[in-house]
Amino acid sequence: MAGRSRKQRSSSSSWSSESSYNMSDLQYRAKLPEKKAKEEFLANPIRGYLTEDDTTHDNSSMGRSRKRNRHSKKEQHVKDETFSSEDNQDSSVSSKKRNTRGRRKRAGISRKRKVNGQKQSRATILTWLIDCGVIQENAEVVVIEEETTKKMGKIKKEGILCSCCCTVLTVGDFYKHAGGTTSKPYEYILIAETCSSLLSFMVKAWYLPEESKFHRFNLIETSHDASDSYDDACMICADGGNLMCCDNCSSTYHHNKCLGMQEVPNGSWYCPFCVCKICGDPAYENDYLQKCQQCERKYHRECRQAREPVSLDMNETQEDTFCDLTCKKIYDKLERCYLGVEHELDKSYKWTLLQNTDDGSGINIEDDYQRTVCHSKLVVARRLMEDCFEEIIDRHTKIDVVKSLVYNCGSNFNRVNFRGFYTFILENDEEIISAATIRIHGTNLAEMPFIATNKEYRRKGMCKKLMVAIETTLCSLKVEKLVIPSVSECIETWIESYGFRLISSPLPKEITLHNTLMFHDSVRLQKDIRPSASDKQVWTNGRLKSVIHRAVVNKEKQRLSIAYFMNPTSSATIECPQQLIDSVSNPRKYVPFTWGELRYLLLTTRRVRGKAVAINNFLISS
Ligand SMILES: [Zn+2]
Ligand SMILES: [Zn+2]
Ligand SMILES: [Zn+2]
Ligand SMILES: [Zn+2]
Ligand SMILES: [Zn+2]
Repeated sequence: MAGRSRKQRSSSSSWSSESSYNMSDLQYRAKLPEKKAKEEFLANPIRGYLTEDDTTHDNSSMGRSRKRNRHSKKEQHVKDETFSSEDNQDSSVSSKKRNTRGRRKRAGISRKRKVNGQKQSRATILTWLIDCGVIQENAEVVVIEEETTKKMGKIKKEGILCSCCCTVLTVGDFYKHAGGTTSKPYEYILIAETCSSLLSFMVKAWYLPEESKFHRFNLIETSHDASDSYDDACMICADGGNLMCCDNCSSTYHHNKCLGMQEVPNGSWYCPFCVCKICGDPAYENDYLQKCQQCERKYHRECRQAREPVSLDMNETQEDTFCDLTCKKIYDKLERCYLGVEHELDKSYKWTLLQNTDDGSGINIEDDYQRTVCHSKLVVARRLMEDCFEEIIDRHTKIDVVKSLVYNCGSNFNRVNFRGFYTFILENDEEIISAATIRIHGTNLAEMPFIATNKEYRRKGMCKKLMVAIETTLCSLKVEKLVIPSVSECIETWIESYGFRLISSPLPKEITLHNTLMFHDSVRLQKDIRPSASDKQVWTNGRLKSVIHRAVVNKEKQRLSIAYFMNPTSSATIECPQQLIDSVSNPRKYVPFTWGELRYLLLTTRRVRGKAVAINNFLISS
């Protein structure tokens, strides 16, 4: 190490799906004549990181497709380069040169054909089990109770074909049709030939080597060469260039652009993940830092004790470690109320929060049935995401980003440490319609790098439904801000239709303290998660008012604010009681509605100068 000057590293940007790292892609292309491959490539538009979904503005969608075409041309240019570099038998070297700042990632050809050529298949547990070969389509199934056969049927990709009525039913409906009374249809529907349950096949498929190899911790091995033991992309912006390295781990940063530091410090410098969250120091001698189970930040036990003297709530064991009470509360609530639990959104839609609980670092689901169903749905969600997005292989670590993210895989490289991610899914009749990955860093910040909707359901408001579930959950966990990385084509939609805005102070500073997933060609957007008082106005038939959302101060009068929070279940009815209504002097002003319906409108209707207009939808016109 030369003198006292800081270790620095220079590199190019990181996320890519370079052909040199994807063998199947390379092999596939080698078989195709060059011209045919090019035609196929041009026929398929480029998709962003966030799949475009429903927007009511026809204009914006036209604008987007125009932009896409421009990108296609640019991609074609990149593509030509790739072919010539392969002709030179030098693809790995030239790919490094090519991958310079600001260039969009290039798409994998085989994936594109799959997305655009065929109808996207139903994302269900049955289609997964059939596709990975553990059960056969048309296999006979039976429901046996008290040693008598209640119903027989056949496995189909669309569901179970009942032999008595020749109707295709969902797994749950077939079980009910057979008179089943438990809440565990996958356990009580058996494959006739072997008399083993669908559940046992789900366990088998989850542990197939080609599946389970993606569930593991991503250990990035580095050689003794100092330069490759550091990451080549900035933790904050994911771009390359001149990067400042942490003295303890692999993390690198743009000291000025991303951390706002004027100079690279002389002497040791430690990244936010190598110091105590509370005092800012690295581990003392003969000491070590605890890692918080919820936010992954580290802390000295003594520092936390000093800040929050031992309370009964924090009575924790060695395995049970939290940096503060807030993190513990978030974790407990996720475990108790959300993970693996189906929630009804409205009549036919359900949403569930999922996580891979196998690695032992996060929340555990005690119930075997619930855990197996949770893992199975996670695989189905992963398949849905892979149908929507190009494969993204991290250039430096060679990690498959989507798989590692959905399975919340940890890593010794902070930037690709995806511990703590959850997947939200929206289901209709056991089919997963939409899926999103979320990580909660504390009450100040949550991130959502991916949200995807099955192609067959786009432009039907599904993404908005899932966003309602996500924002309701974040609101109940008291999380205040949600950030997303958006590709430039989608920014307008996120702002116009979903209420996001460009990130502003103090959020950029907060982001430097956490590990949020970023793509070098994306822009961060934020949304404030706020509760609303509109329901009180309806309850009291307009006696209490939902005030305009603003803060006004004046010199004459004192301002008194009372903060009051409530979050009922989605199916709870909001209506004014009969006693408060007089048919002549004070007739009923609003029709009764459910909390879920109101939440949906609150989140999808734009506020007009801070005034919530959603409840106007329930006004009774006189
Ligand atoms: Zn039947
Ligand atoms: Zn940076
Ligand atoms: Zn570090
Ligand atoms: Zn400390
Ligand atoms: Zn924490």
